[in-house]
Amino acid sequence: MCVTIYKESPRKWLVRSRFAASGRGAIRRTPETLTVQESHYQSLPISVSPTTNEFAKLRQSMVDSQLRARGICDERVLEAMLFVPREEFVPEVLQADAYGDWPQPIGAGQTISQPYTVAYMAQAAQLRGEEKVLEVGTGSGYGAAVLSVLVAEVHTIERLPALAHRACELLKKLDFGNVHVHIGDGSLGLPHEAPFDAIIVTAAGKCLPSAYVDQLTDGGRIVIPIGQQKSSQHLYRIYRKRGEVIADDLGRFAFVPLIGDQGWESP
Ligand code: SAM
Repeated sequence: MCVTIYKESPRKWLVRSRFAASGRGAIRRTPETLTVQESHYQSLPISVSPTTNEFAKLRQSMVDSQLRARGICDERVLEAMLFVPREEFVPEVLQADAYGDWPQPIGAGQTISQPYTVAYMAQAAQLRGEEKVLEVGTGSGYGAAVLSVLVAEVHTIERLPALAHRACELLKKLDFGNVHVHIGDGSLGLPHEAPFDAIIVTAAGKCLPSAYVDQLTDGGRIVIPIGQQKSSQHLYRIYRKRGEVIADDLGRFAFVPLIGDQGWESP
């Protein structure tokens, strides 16, 4: 089942359910869970080498010039972006550019989102600290690490096992112990862990999967990009309140596609 978003007035978008005519998805695998907390690694304190200090300066500059200067004003989000060592989540050869104002390749044809996009989505989700959150699209694990600082519990799901395993190991190493990594088709949400106070989708859907609405608490928020072409994707914040589902259009963004039963077909 898919959900249609339509414009009621210039600022208000409503959401209605419809059945998606999809012949796909006959086989649904139960997501496999990789447990960050059951780590056999010792948590490694981040060393205070000059390189680390240099990264800390780049991180501060990123927060000031890319985030605060462009309207990110949730202080908790800014603090989380200042805390998480983004350089750990990009391939070693690209670490010098880890705080650049652009997405970077992480292998398997996927990307770590631009810092501004990560901060914007976290701010849009209006997180206060007690929430249980689902992130769809683990990728490098960076977005999950940022969310980990902002909420009580993070579940993140990735369809590509190699990325999920790598992210899980890294999140263990860096001691982000409230993150649970799952492997599976996140276009179906994560039913056995629902409900969630917020669902943040880091790949662009074909539509709003109804599973997300079903797996959201009353008062919960979904932040999701929708659209096929990168040039025509829009980011939406969807609220579920007393049975009504309302969407705000937050403007244009560019994401890789959400591939799965309730997303796009694998290329
Ligand atoms: N949050 C990530 C980070 O911080 O690195 C960025 C993620 S990248 C922009 C989008 C990710 O969504 C990719 O890793 C891709 O494999 C994943 N993805 C696409 N479709 C998916 C699906 N149906 N379920 C789970 N993950 C999916």
